[in-house]
Amino acid sequence: MDELALALRRWLVRWGQSPSMLVIEMHETPERDEALFRRQLEWAARHFTLVDLVTFARWWREYGANPRAVSKSKPPLLFTFDDGRLNNYTVAAPVLESFGTRGVFFVVPQFVQCNPQEARQFYYSRIDTRRLPPSLPEEETRSMTPQQIADLSRRGHSVGNHTYSHVNLRTLPESQLHHEIVDSAAQIAAWTGQPVDAFAWTFSWDSITPRAWKLIQQHHRFCFAPCPGSVDCRADSHHLIWRTEVEVVYPPSDFRFMYAGLADPLWRSKRELLRATLEDAPTPQSTHDL
Ligand SMILES: [Zn+2]
Repeated sequence: MDELALALRRWLVRWGQSPSMLVIEMHETPERDEALFRRQLEWAARHFTLVDLVTFARWWREYGANPRAVSKSKPPLLFTFDDGRLNNYTVAAPVLESFGTRGVFFVVPQFVQCNPQEARQFYYSRIDTRRLPPSLPEEETRSMTPQQIADLSRRGHSVGNHTYSHVNLRTLPESQLHHEIVDSAAQIAAWTGQPVDAFAWTFSWDSITPRAWKLIQQHHRFCFAPCPGSVDCRADSHHLIWRTEVEVVYPPSDFRFMYAGLADPLWRSKRELLRATLEDAPTPQSTHDL
C-alpha cells in the first residue's frame, strides 16, 4: 500500500503544479537503534533525495522559479532532530554523513549548559513533560556539549534554535520572548561561529503566537513547525515549514505511511489554522532572504 501511495504521490507531483519537499522531525537516536535508523535511511534514499539545509533552500528557490527545472521523481528530503540530544551527535550525525547528507540539529542552550545530573532533571521537567517515571539511561537524557555543537557545524550540519530553555512560546510571558528566541540564537552562534538560520518551536503544532513568530522571523531565515505536511515550495513560506514526525523506532509500515504523506490530510485543518493565525497577522519586513 505504501509503494502505491508513493507512486501516487510521484504522479501528483509530476502532473500537478505543486512541487513538494519533505522535512522529517526526529528526537532520540540511541545507539541500540542505529541499525533501525540505517534501515529507514536506506529506504528513504531509494525514494527521496537526501539533502542538507543549504541544498533544501536552493531546490526550493529553483522549484519556485521553474517547477520543471528539477527532477521530481525523488523529491528532496531534509532530516531535523530536536532538543540537541547527545545521541544525535554520536549516532544520527555520523549515520547521515555515511549517506552523504547532513541534518539540522535544534539545540536548547540551557540544556547544553547542564551538568549530567542537572541534564536529567531538565530533561524530565522541560523536554519530556509527560510526568512518567524516568526510565531512560542517564546517557540518553544528556545534551550535546558546546564543543560537539561546534564540531557538527564544522562538519557541514546546521545547528538551529529550539528556544533557550525549551519553553512553550504560546504560554510564555511576552517579556521573556526576547531571551528565549534572540538570546538563544546569539548563544548558539557564539558556539558555532555561524549565523543561526533555522528555528523550530517546541511542543505541539499550536505552541506559538503571532508575536513570537514575528520575532523568530526577524532573526532566522527558516521557521519549522511541528505540524506534518508536504512542503509546497510555491505556496508555502520558509517561515512556516511543515515537519513530519518519524522516529527511528517506527516499524517500516509506519514510517513508509508517514513518508508517503498519508497522514497529511489529517493535519490539513491545523496547517490552515496556523496559516490563518500567523500569516494573516501583519508581519514586519524580514531581515533575511531565502
Ligand atoms: Zn523539543
